[in-house]
Amino acid sequence: MNVATRPLLGHQPHIHEPWGREASGQRARGGSGRRLAGVPEGDAVWLTARRLHAALAGRVLTRSDFRVPRFATADLSGQQVTETVSRGKHLLTRTDAGMTVHTHLRMDGSWRVRPAAERASGGHRIRLILVNDTWQAIGYLLGIVEILPTAAEQRAVGHLGPDLLGPDWDPAEAERRLRADPARPVGEALLDQRNLAGIGNIYKAETLFLRGVDPWRPVGEVTGLAAMIGLAQRLLEANKERAGIITTGSTRRGEETWVYGRAGRPCRRCGTPVRSADQGRDPEGRITYWCPSCQS
Ligand SMILES: [Zn+2]
Repeated sequence: MNVATRPLLGHQPHIHEPWGREASGQRARGGSGRRLAGVPEGDAVWLTARRLHAALAGRVLTRSDFRVPRFATADLSGQQVTETVSRGKHLLTRTDAGMTVHTHLRMDGSWRVRPAAERASGGHRIRLILVNDTWQAIGYLLGIVEILPTAAEQRAVGHLGPDLLGPDWDPAEAERRLRADPARPVGEALLDQRNLAGIGNIYKAETLFLRGVDPWRPVGEVTGLAAMIGLAQRLLEANKERAGIITTGSTRRGEETWVYGRAGRPCRRCGTPVRSADQGRDPEGRITYWCPSCQS
């Protein structure tokens, strides 16, 4: 099976160089203008962290501008950013003063890195600006913006299961957590960041297709759960450096996924129309896609 092995070409990026344009959570649009997806998954957040790290780490903040009520008077100027890391879909920007800026893109959030002297555009959408002598990182429509002591980060991310792209990735622990609720539909369980952190709606749908598993199958009845977890991790890993998600191995527009975003169109394997339906309560991942013939 050719899974996500080829490099991405000719794909509208959703994230750019630190000095480039918007590091958006929005996925590529196909040639038809169809929106493939709008919610960043773990790989996109990982890439965003890397871009922010490149622009901020090792530099002293000359200005911070928190445009959220709770931190409207906060001022991190004078603090040196030590690093930005991702934990699942959360971003943690740490300073040498022992503070962490915790942000989450949620549905519509994005980061843009621009030269420090440039005037930031899109004012009403800005939630946070971090500026050093060279760059400014501008956070748009972020779902979470908060400052907390680095020592208390667990308050923000302690609930997360093992991070598929993290240094502490632990597939056995992820499996243990998934199995703890055996009656839960596997499509819901894979999205629950408390089980394993980083899978969004696209990886959920594609992993289940590739494993031939119906999204509504109870976790306890899924055979090869460990293999499924391993596949999901490899899919994120294979896509993390690129702007967009490919699970089919094809870089051509409209051929990136097996079932995700393809409701009503023929399954690439068997021709049966791909189905879609709401599943679960997660506002970031309600619609699931599957082939009723290939998945059981
Ligand atoms: Zn099929």
